[in-house]
Formats: sequence, C-alpha cells, structure tokens
Amino acid sequence: MPQSEQTYLQSLQEKYSFSFQEQRQIVETASDLLQWKMGPIERWIDEGKEKKAQGKKRGKALVGNLLRKVNEERRRPTDYADFFPSERLPDKVRSVIVHTQKIMGRCPCPVEGEKTRCCNLKTLDAVQQCSFGCSYCSIQSFYNKGEIKVVGNLKERLEEMDLDDDTWHIGTGQSSDSLLWGNDFGTLDALSTLAQRYPQTIIELKTKSHRTDWLAMDLPSNIVATWSLNAPTIIGKEEHHTASLEQRIAAARKAADKGIPLGFHLHPMVWFKGWEKEYEQVINVVTDTFKPEELVMFSLGTLTFTKAVLRTLRSQGRESRILDMELTEAAGKYSYPLETKRRMFSHAYSCFPQQWKQTGPFFYLCMEDPCLWEPTFGYSYTNDRAFETAMKEAYQQRVALVDEKRHLSI
Ligand code: SF4
Repeated sequence: MPQSEQTYLQSLQEKYSFSFQEQRQIVETASDLLQWKMGPIERWIDEGKEKKAQGKKRGKALVGNLLRKVNEERRRPTDYADFFPSERLPDKVRSVIVHTQKIMGRCPCPVEGEKTRCCNLKTLDAVQQCSFGCSYCSIQSFYNKGEIKVVGNLKERLEEMDLDDDTWHIGTGQSSDSLLWGNDFGTLDALSTLAQRYPQTIIELKTKSHRTDWLAMDLPSNIVATWSLNAPTIIGKEEHHTASLEQRIAAARKAADKGIPLGFHLHPMVWFKGWEKEYEQVINVVTDTFKPEELVMFSLGTLTFTKAVLRTLRSQGRESRILDMELTEAAGKYSYPLETKRRMFSHAYSCFPQQWKQTGPFFYLCMEDPCLWEPTFGYSYTNDRAFETAMKEAYQQRVALVDEKRHLSI
C-alpha cells in the first residue's frame, strides 16, 4: 500500500480508535479500491457527514457509511470503461523438470454432501503453473511461485499407472494451461499413451491459447480439446497474455477440421457492464463457426474463490477489477449471489439456437449450486450420480461418433 494511503489510515485510526474488526474492514477496502483503481480510500470517506456522533460511535458510523458505498459499487455490474490495467507480466521466471510430483487428484468440489453439482472429474497435473496472467487465477496463488514445474518422466509414469475404476474422465487444465506448451515437453505424447491404454476414458485438454502446431500429431479420439472462452472485455482487461477470442475460436476451428472432438467453457462469466451483449456475441461466434455435433460439451461457470485465494489476490495488489463483486458465501467459498448467477447462466443458455439445445453438446454448470440448473436449462439432475451418468453417456457417444468419422475418412 502506498505510503500516502498508510499515513491517511494511521491518522484515521488515531482520531477514531477503530476496533480490530473495523480496522480489518478499512484496510481490506482500501486495498480493494487501489486494485480497482478507484482509490484512494479518502475519496470514499466523508468525515463531515457524521458530525453529530462522537468518538468511537463516530468511527463506527464512518465505517458503516464506507461499507455501504462500497457494497453499492460491488452490487453494480463492474464498469471497465475507465479501467486500463498495466499489463500483468508473467511472474514465472523459469521452467523446472521434476520427477517426484503427485500427478493425480480430483476436482475442487466439496467432497461432503452435494452442495455443488459435481461430475467427479479426476485431474492430472502434467504441468504446475502457467505463463498466462489471469487476474482471478487460483493456480497463480497456490503453486510454486517463480517456477513452472513440468513432470519430466510423465510418459513412464502414465505407462505404469493403473486408473481407479471410477475414473472415466480426466482434466489436465486444473494446474496449468494444457496447450500453452503444445508437445514441447512430450506431454501430449504421454497423454496419448494413457488415452490408448484406456480408450473408454476421456482426457480433456483445456486452454486459452491459440497454439495449433500440436494438430500435426495423431491424437487418439478420446482426447478432447477444449477452449475457455470469455467476453472480449474480460479477456482484454483480466486475462493477461492469453489469446483473443478470435484467435481461440480460429484455433478450435482448425482442431475441428482435423477431426478433434471439441468443447468450450464459458468460464468464469463476470457481472460487468455490457455482459448480456458480449456473452451473446461469444455464443453467436461459437454457433456460427461450429456445427453442434462437433462439440462434446459446453459448460458455464463463474468466479468462485476460497478464503485463501481471496487473501492472496488481495495481497498481490495487482490492478484488477475482478474482486469488485458481491462476495456471497457459497459451499464454503465466495461467489456472486445466486440471483446474479441465475441471470448470467440463463441468459447464456437462452442465446443458443433450439437445434443446439436438442442435438448439441452436453451442457452443464461447472461447480454450481444444484438449484441453478432448472432455471438455467429447464431440467436438473436429482443427484451427482445421475449427472455423472448422463455426462459420461453423452461424452462417450460423441467421441464414438468422431471416431467413426475418422475411420470413414481414412
Ligand atoms: S490460463 Fe488458466 S492456469 Fe493460466 S493464468 Fe489463466 S486461469 Fe490460470
């Protein structure tokens, strides 16, 4: 925090002797406002307004006023029109090859109960960390700062690995971007080996890149390439160094032409000024560029943070408006209120043509409250098992279709 801000906060503390809780709220708010480039906090505190109250009471009233104003700001869709963040430089300085890392895990849905509708995704961490600089990224917060860890003996390990019986789909984009390095480290070769050993298991690559040299490889049809998509405003202001929407779509088109099964994740949707129009444009680009049968899945999701990630994002002090949002408790984490999510998801789904809803990809909400399914899609699953079964059937059917087409074209 700049010295001028610290001096101002100290002078306030001397005047009003805030409680520990009030101090925490003020400091957190000051740091949020600086990140949003809406500071300094002095602009938000009106000392003249609470003249009638004295001492601690006056301090309490000032804090109440401040939080009310900032919460109003949080409730409004975030305005990016006057926000021009400095480019977030990659803070990863070198890649290191490791041989010992634990590579298999599971998705971050809560294990107990069914607070979020979970598809039981298993995760494979071939690389930890990423060279992109998305401001909301939890991977950036957790893994080995300053280093990108690449598993050097991945092929050998995957040749020996026995998958658990309930493993039918594996995501590789949970600890990094799956295609940013293409096959530079032999990762795709190694994944192909695993895919060939387990032809019924779907391996999902997830990327925000536009790299396509890997398409020269002959990947098994149970490897599905997916792109995370977002509104151009969010890509431009919050997803530093990633490919533009047009570049991602062009790369996905090339992959489809090569007969690779595809998927898209509209994730994380952000509540910003202009969201309805921009997300509609994203979906129009997808439905204009692809045939519904070329896609295996299309997911919708939004911002969700654990307390630890929130703490890290705040402490980094980077210019970003991503935390200019209502942080409501959701399954032990923090996210938009359900009503905001309902509006974003149902709008996105309503933008798909009817044909896509009937014959298109498998649509789902990623890690969301089960109560959001019905208002979004008009249907829901009674439990996680039913969701997982439907997903598995849909994925495997679509991949079998791609396989059939490939054989016909040989
Ligand atoms: S592309 Fe994915 S892994 Fe990389 S910074 Fe963005 S969210 Fe994180």
